[in-house]
Amino acid sequence: MITSYNPADPSDLVVEVESPGAAGVAAAIERARAAQTGWRALGAAGRSAALTKAAAAIEAHADELTELIVREVGKPAVEARGEVGRTVAIWRYYAQAPFAPAGEVHEPAAGEGLLLTRRRPYGVAGLVTPWNFPLAIPTWKAAPALAVGNAVVLKPAPEATACALRLAELAGLPEGVLTIVPGGAEEGAALVAGADVISFTGSTGVGRAVVAAATGRGVPVQAEMGGLNAAIVLPDADIAQAAAHLAAAIAGYAGQKCTATSRVIAVGDAYEPLAEALAKALTGIAAPGALTDVCGPVINEPALERLTTAIDSAVEAGATALAGGRRIDRDGWFIEPTLLEQVPAEHPLRTEEFFGPVAVLLPAADLDEAIAVANDTAQSLSTSVHSRDLDTALAAADRLDAGMVRVNAPSSGVDFHLPFSGAKGAGYGAREQGQAVLDFFTAQRTVTLLPAGTPR
Ligand code: NAD
Repeated sequence: MITSYNPADPSDLVVEVESPGAAGVAAAIERARAAQTGWRALGAAGRSAALTKAAAAIEAHADELTELIVREVGKPAVEARGEVGRTVAIWRYYAQAPFAPAGEVHEPAAGEGLLLTRRRPYGVAGLVTPWNFPLAIPTWKAAPALAVGNAVVLKPAPEATACALRLAELAGLPEGVLTIVPGGAEEGAALVAGADVISFTGSTGVGRAVVAAATGRGVPVQAEMGGLNAAIVLPDADIAQAAAHLAAAIAGYAGQKCTATSRVIAVGDAYEPLAEALAKALTGIAAPGALTDVCGPVINEPALERLTTAIDSAVEAGATALAGGRRIDRDGWFIEPTLLEQVPAEHPLRTEEFFGPVAVLLPAADLDEAIAVANDTAQSLSTSVHSRDLDTALAAADRLDAGMVRVNAPSSGVDFHLPFSGAKGAGYGAREQGQAVLDFFTAQRTVTLLPAGTPR
């Protein structure tokens, strides 16, 4: 049985559904395989119309979906509404994809004839998703997979089951074309064991296991995993603006974005004014109104305990809390947005993703040291650079390992039509979003056409 609870009111059971087990997932894959032929045969116009209709249905239920996101995963309402809008935009964007060229024509190296490349769908795309963007991530995987003619079986995170079920219901695609299988690790592993192409987003440990299982079967796989994201603030930055961006990147949605900032690196003279401005901004977010409007709760009790234990152990090891540091005494899984300084180098808060509204503040003598500290992780997803000097920002962007570099902007935040992925251990395989993911969900083949009667 799969259950999900409201993180702001844990007595509120959002959904309770049967999980089908590995056998049920295998059956869903077979039904999807049967449905895929008809889905592909709809052709470009038919699939485009179906995706456009899905976008309209989701848009027409924006209020309901916003409330469901807030209730099921505790996302602040403004961000939840933004996610619904982004979800609609992604369906519309990929509704155009069926009309894009499916291949190229080349001259043969010698003689008569035509060489064609053509892309075609794999069959059944198996998608395994996390809870933190309960509509947008399932959509940015499912919509491109569907656009190019695959059927989809999607296993959402248990914590976001109701959102995924409602999304698929509203999308209203033909039977078997988009199936949600509620479940946990067993169902996820079964999907990875049976689908023809796999796309995963979630934590690093699970992502590596998914990649190993899929590559072991020889099926294509992409995996987007956790980030240990840094922000570099140069002395010439607009410190007030940087502090506002960083507070949003640390505490927005309780730091539960893969692109959230967890390490703030202040270069030289930026340290003191930034420490003060950022501590003030984060303390402001702990006030009752801002807490629910900007931060919200973390997803569940174990997440909260992991955060408070880590903060306590850092303080015991000599760190100081410049802001926050404690659980908030109210219903739900709320913790104060927290900024710590003097956290020892080997402490897990500097080396692991905690997925909460907590960041460490680190000094760097100069930009070289800041870049070395930012790059000192295997989870290089997104780094922000804050400076008024474009040359410095561009030079830093060139030397940072991260899959995404954002200048004078929070590390969190992505455009849905650009390649999205981490570097080093944070991402595996093809980029998500944009053209890259359409290529990922199709296999390319080469066709040689010679005039009839061409001698060997
Ligand atoms: P998670 O790894 O616990 O779960 C992700 C999904 O994998 C869930 O659907 C889960 O049920 C499933 N799963 C668990 N064990 C499995 C197994 N053995 N085989 C197959 N599937 C299995 O992650 P989460 O807690 O849901 O999400 C938070 C994590 O996701 C964070 O680490 C965050 O950084 C990451 N994330 C990354 C991105 C990105 O694009 N890089 C985006 C959002 C979230």
